[in-house]
Amino acid sequence: MKTAFTFVPSSQHEFPDHPERPGRLDVLEPLLHTFDAERIEATRAKPEQIALVHQPQLIKAIEEVCRQGPAIIDHAPTYVTKTSYDDALLAAGGVIACTHAVINGNSNNAFAIVRPPGHHAEPDRAMGFCIFNNIAIAACEALQHGMERVMVIDYDAHHGNGTQAACMDNERFGFISTHQWGIYPGTGWITDAPHAKGRLVNVPLHEFAGDKTFERVADKIFKPIVEKFHPQMLLISTGFDAHWNDPITSLGLSTQGFYNISKKLVQLAEEYCKSKIVFVLEGGYDPHNVANGAGAVFDALTNSPLKKDAHDPSPYPDVDHESRIQEILKWHGIT
Ligand SMILES: [Zn+2]
Repeated sequence: MKTAFTFVPSSQHEFPDHPERPGRLDVLEPLLHTFDAERIEATRAKPEQIALVHQPQLIKAIEEVCRQGPAIIDHAPTYVTKTSYDDALLAAGGVIACTHAVINGNSNNAFAIVRPPGHHAEPDRAMGFCIFNNIAIAACEALQHGMERVMVIDYDAHHGNGTQAACMDNERFGFISTHQWGIYPGTGWITDAPHAKGRLVNVPLHEFAGDKTFERVADKIFKPIVEKFHPQMLLISTGFDAHWNDPITSLGLSTQGFYNISKKLVQLAEEYCKSKIVFVLEGGYDPHNVANGAGAVFDALTNSPLKKDAHDPSPYPDVDHESRIQEILKWHGIT
């Protein structure tokens, strides 16, 4: 069984001087053939699949505003062009294709490299450079096709507020998000969802948290939460904006750090989810970091050592997070 991937670059979804641009994938694209993975074609998600997460009025409104595009639709700013509705359907379809390949057993695991990203999009609004919530839609699709419980783990530098909103009242849908506290969108505190302790887990971090902190969080928080919630599949929102020199955020990860955290997630899936895991691209605004990070994810998925270390350790010391980790465990009743 192989690792599968989809690639949806949405080359016409572009706006002048915007960081979420097709060029994010320019360094990665020529390297795709070098990874030990098989490309599968994405097809557009059907509006009824988008409606597993989003309100029908929002889907119609997005289709309408795109037809008249280009336009700015929120203050992030989130933009649309004339092609963005179709691009967003294809991005969601790319994640769904990977999810089905893994559920059906055609692939061992998969990586959906798609844009526009999705994790900020809430059921009733597009926001934060995101139009439709690709990963939440795929999670709901998985729940409709044989999975009893799924869990999204989001290590993008920003809080996955849209995914949190999508799973808030769905007891079969778990969510863990690590994110830099105090930046956009401002949500994601530990106590956001008191009704969903053990299932909806926020891990707000200080800037330059660093590689070692992410490993500690994986061992001390991800593992017991996954063990307790016991999902049959993991979906990973991977954002390479968690790299220490990302132009818009600063969480302190290196390429080796992306490899280590991704490897731990693959091992969790092996231990608890019969290896079922799909990585999904969210943010990351330096094209070299995106290419290096994606290489690290492929190496983790294919059980390889890190083949191309960018030798880019963070120049900042890791920030100690032991008391924060203990605070989070206490809130969720994990001792
Ligand atoms: Zn982000």
